Amino acid sequence: MKVLKFGGTSVGSAERMRAVAELIQSDERRIVVLSAMSGTTNALVNIARLLYDGDTTAATYQTEILRQHYLMVARELLPNEAHVTDAITQVDARFRAVFDLMRGPLTASGEKVILAQGELLSTLLFHRYVTQVLGQQAVLLPALDFMKIDRDEEPDAAYIREHLAQQLAQYPDNQLFITQGYICRNADGGIDNLKRGGSDYSASLIGAAADASEIQIWTDIDGLHNNDPRVVEGTYPIRELSFDEAAELAYFGAKILHPSSVLPARQHNIPVRLLNTMQPEAPGTLISSKTGPEPIKAVAAKDGLVAINVKSSRMLLAHGFLRSLFEVFERYRTPIDMITTSEVAVSLTIDDATHLEEILNDLRGFGTVEVDKNQTIICLVGNLVQSTHGAARLAFGALEDVPLRMISYGGSPNNISILVNTADKTRALKALNAGLFQKA
Ligand code: ADP
Ligand code: ASP
Ligand code: MG
Repeated sequence: MKVLKFGGTSVGSAERMRAVAELIQSDERRIVVLSAMSGTTNALVNIARLLYDGDTTAATYQTEILRQHYLMVARELLPNEAHVTDAITQVDARFRAVFDLMRGPLTASGEKVILAQGELLSTLLFHRYVTQVLGQQAVLLPALDFMKIDRDEEPDAAYIREHLAQQLAQYPDNQLFITQGYICRNADGGIDNLKRGGSDYSASLIGAAADASEIQIWTDIDGLHNNDPRVVEGTYPIRELSFDEAAELAYFGAKILHPSSVLPARQHNIPVRLLNTMQPEAPGTLISSKTGPEPIKAVAAKDGLVAINVKSSRMLLAHGFLRSLFEVFERYRTPIDMITTSEVAVSLTIDDATHLEEILNDLRGFGTVEVDKNQTIICLVGNLVQSTHGAARLAFGALEDVPLRMISYGGSPNNISILVNTADKTRALKALNAGLFQKA
């Protein structure tokens, strides 16, 4: 079994969907995971926001624009009039789910229903194209029947494995399955999602649950690049990355992968290939237990961090101090990304500021607390331990003009993390590119 995931741009138009249908041709059993067509989830987020603001007129108008777009895609994709009429009925049922939610005030669960429509629409149309126009056998598997998160909003791997297996067992002779990325059920059985960019995570969870031989993430770029191509010019794809390296890059901001998406593949040792739908012959990036030789492979940046510094004389020569400090973050279920300590102070960063005020209140019980918002973690990833000579010098040399707020080195053999003001991010990424990767 192989899992092939196609992102928003890859299924962004009738033409792109036709190209995807060609890319998935194979004799092997495979599950194709689709995102929403590009722009759709953003449009749905916007519709939900308008409803929260009470602007039903604007929400209705935006929903109707989106609906017209899907009717057009259905017509472009399906030449047969009867098939078009039938598809439009199904598309309209999806939009009715949205319009129905406009009758009363929007709730959090209503919002999740709205956000789920993008993947339901793309898979609905793509499945019809493959079966009705290409005349191929394909089963549309409802992700809502097997993809699930628990009370902690973590994927329920045992449930997913069991229910996906049940679904697949119903079609022992079928080779091609199509399903939705991103969407899932929550612990209460309601419709939920795996957060923005979550289709990558779906693909990895499905690959792990189905014991796939490979997970392919098809997107609009030829693999994971050595630096953020949206910020820096002249980036290039990295051919091979280890699971650990890829996990760090995804977690620390390489948008090509959802932050958690490498973990299920790593746990089951399933290789992940990042491939380009616009350039299918490009080798892309292979993520596996092996890695390539470069000492520093890539740089990624994650915005939206808050740095908290706690200064306390109680810390001097005391034990148990850090434990009680960490308990504050545990109490508010807030993960810490980076940490540095001195004898009398601790600096750490969080990216979820939901409970910031409560956390700060509790921390004030330990000593003086300072907070810096708008921070960015820049993460350097590679074989840093084997190549310690030079790697750190090159990195810090390149950053000589950028004020550094925190540095974390040695926690993992393949990561150096540096905290800077978000205002300095572009400058820092460009300087690192010039200092680390520019080949003479
Ligand atoms: P999809 O819709 O297929 O999931 P995304 O937009 O989520 O695609 O991810 C692909 C985009 O990620 C690329 O177009 C690129 O702009 C961005 N990106 C950010 N950092 C990197 C990186 N290090 N390597 C490759 N792409 C990156
Ligand atoms: N459609 C969702 C989003 O835009 C999930 C994804 O594309 O991976 O975030
Ligand atoms: Mg994505």
